[in-house]
Amino acid sequence: MRQSGAVSLPEPSRRDTRLDTYVDAYAERTHGLTVSAVRALFAVANRPEVVSLAGGMPNIADLPREALGLAVDRLIREQGTQAMQYGSGQGELFMREHIVEVMAEEGIHAHADDVVVSCGSQQALDLVTRVFCDPGDVVLAEGPSYVGALGTFRAYQCQIVHVAMDDHGIDPVALTQAIVTLRAAGKRVKFLYTIPNFQNPTGVTQPVERRRELIAIAKEYDLLILEDNPYGLLTLEAEPLPALRSMDAEHVIYLGSFSKTFAPGFRVGWVVAPPAVREKLVLTQEAATLAPPVFSQYVISSYLEQFDWRGQIDVFRAMYRARRDAMMEGLTENMPADTTWTHPAGGFFVWVTLPEGLDSQAILPRAVSERVAFTPGPAFYADGLGSRNMRLSFCFPTPERILEGTRRLGKVLANELEMHRTFGLHDAPTPHIELQTGPAPNTS
Ligand code: PMP
Repeated sequence: MRQSGAVSLPEPSRRDTRLDTYVDAYAERTHGLTVSAVRALFAVANRPEVVSLAGGMPNIADLPREALGLAVDRLIREQGTQAMQYGSGQGELFMREHIVEVMAEEGIHAHADDVVVSCGSQQALDLVTRVFCDPGDVVLAEGPSYVGALGTFRAYQCQIVHVAMDDHGIDPVALTQAIVTLRAAGKRVKFLYTIPNFQNPTGVTQPVERRRELIAIAKEYDLLILEDNPYGLLTLEAEPLPALRSMDAEHVIYLGSFSKTFAPGFRVGWVVAPPAVREKLVLTQEAATLAPPVFSQYVISSYLEQFDWRGQIDVFRAMYRARRDAMMEGLTENMPADTTWTHPAGGFFVWVTLPEGLDSQAILPRAVSERVAFTPGPAFYADGLGSRNMRLSFCFPTPERILEGTRRLGKVLANELEMHRTFGLHDAPTPHIELQTGPAPNTS
């Protein structure tokens, strides 16, 4: 609609053949935001006949939905006028007090004032990056790292520098070298982004000793650590390990979430930060959303107060343990020689390294045509590495489907190796797959 006197943008005419009228108008920071071919493939991977080991969706079928429904019903009737009202930019006080209680499970002693509630920890990543990063600033991250975080860092035009990992997470020597080299080159290293527990995508956990080493480096080099911990309570073998934040409140900004321990649809996560940073985060949150979702905070608080949430986490653990075990069994039985994989003690993911010469991105279309999907390694690197890797998730399919998925994958890889021997790497034929358009499934 046009109004006289208003500045009007050109209206696309029927004869306008350009695909995007606004192509010259977008901010520079959107230039890195592109849809990958992999995303299109995942629309196919969502078909029921495909065993998808690609997505990162938690399995929430075991939640007590009947009882939750009654609790939500009561909440609306008894507290609806507050629960459906605008709220605080920092998050509701009762929610922040509950969050403090949840974090104590991982050794964190914080005050409700230190907490800022966010729309999932994904928005917390956005808020922290917005507060700290100018274009060109360096963010250090494990190589490989969580694809959603890489997307956020890219959206703010950060330079992402990966730090090598070993079986215990970030390699401290590589980290020190990266800090020293980058600073000597005049780069502003804003923070180290790390997922210490059951890392996405590798499933690797930092032992306590490694955590201490990282904190020592943070202190020595005055490095800020952004600790992302959505999976910590989903430990499948031992008790949760102490969070980095429990070892140092000054150098660590901590991100938590109810997405994996309760349900992601409420979109409630949080940040814990030193007071000055927290102030900036609250102002940024207000500018972004006015307030994080108030109704969700009421529902989650009711859940924490009225239900056995610790017992529910034990239920989730048993369910994910059976799936992790099926994945380990399936890989042992079906992977070709010279394939290796991680052995996660929690979380959702396994990281597979393929025999030399195989390329996970090239294999994906062939795997999907054999009705199994995975996420190719390069998705988790900012610099194109990872072609010999794939991430397999065991969170969503049943153990039987996971076993079937690994059987199908084993066949695909055996075929692949055979073709590789016969044709050489790049001449292997790629099957034609009908790509569907539509909402992209969650692959995070
Ligand atoms: N961090 C990591 C490591 C994740 O795996 C995810 C979700 N897959 C998130 C953050 C975001 O989760 P949410 O926004 O649902 O809290």
